[in-house]
Amino acid sequence: MVTREQILQIVDFKGDSHSVVSLYLSPSLEKLKYGDFVAEAKSLLKKIEEDPLFKGEYWKIIDFLETRFEPSARSVVIFSSPKSDFFQVYEIPIPLKGTCIAGKEPYIKPLIRLLEQYERYCLVLVDGKKARIFSIYMGKLEEHTYILDEVPGWHKQGGWSQARFQRHIEQQIYEHLKKVADITLTFFKKEQFDRLILGGPHEVIAHFKNIIHIYLVRRFVGSIAIDVNASIQEIEKRAISLIEKIEEKENEELMQRVLDNMGKMAVAGIKDITTMLNQGRIQVLLVDPDLSTEGWICPKCHFISTTSAKCNVCESDVKKSKDIIENIIEQNFELAGEIHFLNNNETLKDLGGIAAILRW
Ligand SMILES: [Zn+2]
Repeated sequence: MVTREQILQIVDFKGDSHSVVSLYLSPSLEKLKYGDFVAEAKSLLKKIEEDPLFKGEYWKIIDFLETRFEPSARSVVIFSSPKSDFFQVYEIPIPLKGTCIAGKEPYIKPLIRLLEQYERYCLVLVDGKKARIFSIYMGKLEEHTYILDEVPGWHKQGGWSQARFQRHIEQQIYEHLKKVADITLTFFKKEQFDRLILGGPHEVIAHFKNIIHIYLVRRFVGSIAIDVNASIQEIEKRAISLIEKIEEKENEELMQRVLDNMGKMAVAGIKDITTMLNQGRIQVLLVDPDLSTEGWICPKCHFISTTSAKCNVCESDVKKSKDIIENIIEQNFELAGEIHFLNNNETLKDLGGIAAILRW
């Protein structure tokens, strides 16, 4: 898994005169065994095996995969450079395109695309006695924590008065919910989730929402009425369906904002997008994930252009780029702009597959 902070750290590596190898390993499903990560690495790294600049990195990576690596994910991404022993490994739960790129800068575009394409969700199921905490990322649900507290049932009344016993239970339920809220906050901070979903009986969720930290309240996006003891399959089905609805609604709202502000605070089409990006004016970028188009980029100042004329900023000769959409996504990420990938959105397709809401 990879976070925004980690990608920014890798980005910081740019501009350094030292060389870095970026390796994306994603063996086929049948070959997804320990040895086959090594086999695929050897085949992808072949081109640098004899290169005096990268030979050391070749052996560092192979040695790591053979002796210290225990794969638990579908794909693995490795960055390796002799500079200050820069060696980073990221496991990704979905297939990626296998590739090896050796050069002055780390190759991070596929990671940025992944990060921007998938939100990280935390799901908390809670009732008066129990709680279960899950993560949902790239369409996969994983259970992390199970919490069970001894809250007495109504049948164990003993000699207590009804009112006193009710207060006692309410206090215990409150303590249970408070404990779940604390554990959720710790988990949330550690895993750096983007969003929170709650599940359980309606009245408990309503109560729980009043207890959780403001940081969690801000990330709350929806809830599901579900039994805390439900099967993993049932929970995953319900949660994914809610997430799809939430994201679809958000995309529609974003698209509407673009349409409402077109020609003022919004632009569309590759030409206007590059102009606005070069001026640092893009706040929210909306992209059709299948869009790709040739263009030109200035090797000195990274000015992006749809024509081969000299760079507008530093007048250098521009270099051809096979896909300037990747350059646009990367630069927008570095400028801290938001990016949304909109699948099968006809309105966006009609606008040329790319649109943006501007900062000014
Ligand atoms: Zn330039």
